[in-house]
Amino acid sequence: MPADVSASILAELTAVTGAAGITTGAAALEPHVTEWRGNYRGRTPVMVAPATTAEAAAIMRICHARQLGVVPQGGNTGLVGGAIPASTAEAPQIVLSARRLQAIRNLDADNYTITAEAGCLLADVQAAAAAADRFFPLSLAAEGSCQLGGNISTNAGGTNVLRYGNTRDLVLGLEVVLPDGRIYAGLRGLRKDNAGYDLKQLFIGAEGTLGFITAAICKLFPPPRSLSTAFVAIAEPAAAIALLSRARVALGDQLIAFELINRRAMDFVLDNLPEVRDPFAAAHPWYLLLELGSAGTGSAADEQLEAFLAEGLTTGQLIDGILAQSSAQRAGLWHLRHGISEAQKKAGAGIKHDISVPVSRIPEFLGAAGRVVAEQIPGVQVVAFGHLGDGNLHYNLNQPEAMDAGAFLALREPVSLAVHSIAVGLGGSFSAEHGVGVLKRADLARWRGGVELELMRTLKAALDPTGIMNPGKLLPDD
Ligand SMILES: Cc1cc2nc3c(=O)[nH]c(=O)nc-3n(C[C@H](O)[C@H](O)[C@H](O)COP(=O)(O)OP(=O)(O)OC[C@H]3O[C@@H](n4cnc5c(N)ncnc54)[C@H](O)[C@@H]3O)c2cc1C
Repeated sequence: MPADVSASILAELTAVTGAAGITTGAAALEPHVTEWRGNYRGRTPVMVAPATTAEAAAIMRICHARQLGVVPQGGNTGLVGGAIPASTAEAPQIVLSARRLQAIRNLDADNYTITAEAGCLLADVQAAAAAADRFFPLSLAAEGSCQLGGNISTNAGGTNVLRYGNTRDLVLGLEVVLPDGRIYAGLRGLRKDNAGYDLKQLFIGAEGTLGFITAAICKLFPPPRSLSTAFVAIAEPAAAIALLSRARVALGDQLIAFELINRRAMDFVLDNLPEVRDPFAAAHPWYLLLELGSAGTGSAADEQLEAFLAEGLTTGQLIDGILAQSSAQRAGLWHLRHGISEAQKKAGAGIKHDISVPVSRIPEFLGAAGRVVAEQIPGVQVVAFGHLGDGNLHYNLNQPEAMDAGAFLALREPVSLAVHSIAVGLGGSFSAEHGVGVLKRADLARWRGGVELELMRTLKAALDPTGIMNPGKLLPDD
């Protein structure tokens, strides 16, 4: 018998979904109460997985009546602890999983839209679009495990934001079960719809604190017929900004990815992932990964990118560059980029930041943050990489080789405060794409206090007056 809910509540929940929708028992619940990196561990008496929106609404009505906390969960790949339940005997929390909501309800090729349920894996939404000769551009390294509902709830970014925008820019309509069990039925596939407040926006990036998303209608695009990918070595971040500005003019909307990687990140990948090779003979301080997606099938985009790189070499904006000659070589370059987090983990204890600043201010951020972290932790290893085209850097720190991991991690608070202060001071954010969850609630209070936080609390109180949706996440305590 689960500790935190009575047999009668469990019977009510089971009556809605049948046994197939109910998971209990420590072993079966383990993957749902643990964050994949082991940074968060919680507890829950039961995970409930409705198979339809009507079932989700019925579950929510029970939770509302019984004052049970509800923690929505998708693929549990989030990085801020938002999907991990924190049930106690006094305040039980169930996990509400979207994993059985997996239908692609509709694909309207001429409207360039797909209607998919929240539990669809991101990779499955991409595949469904591709099968209809359409393109769903949201792409991140976790795409084989994360779900569309989780992507929407975190307003996920990823590698194609420069060209196609964040998840927020890709969602046209939502279906959401509200905390009292009512259904907000907003699945409209319209590019134009100025009929009052745009309610769907409330739930995008809300991290499950305002409702449970059951389905979404998303934009599709013409698929790029060819991809051209280059890996480039540069001397300093200012060169990256100059190259990005020139690339946007020279290559236009074809430019879909522009990623920055520092040498430390490259070293970690080369040292810890045996399958990865350095694309260049010599070591360089900074690298860029650029990708063009073009409508043509010929070699025109490759030629354009080659000409762009050649000009960069002539003007000294770049030190060296290679153009992927095959899809295998392209995959290898992306593997290098996507492998950084795994390699960094293998390299020891880390303190991570997910900041954004206006693109033009990235060099200032890197200069100022580099100085401050070196002062606070002499010998600290800075792993700076990310979506430069979006002004978003994962500014991660690894323990100095001679330092004890515990002593290093004890410095997290002051060092993160310093890094976030610099980002915010440059007009940036302490959370670019990973959200707030549990990890950054205090940061939200610090950096978005006053009227902004008051408005957030007003919205929460309006939609979830009894506070059952994802308690203890996103909003700081009063
Ligand atoms: C290797 C790796 C690479 C990553 N790269 C990126 C990246 O490039 N960009 C990026 O933005 N993120 C990235 N992430 C983070 C993560 O993948 C994203 O945040 C993703 O969108 C989370 O989806 P999920 O289904 O796993 O959600 P979960 O982790 O299950 O949940 C995340 C949040 O959404 C809520 N939620 C989940 N489903 C629902 C629902 N149906 N209704 C309401 N609320 C819900 C949860 O309560 C929680 O607060 C990466 C993660 C990994 C492991």
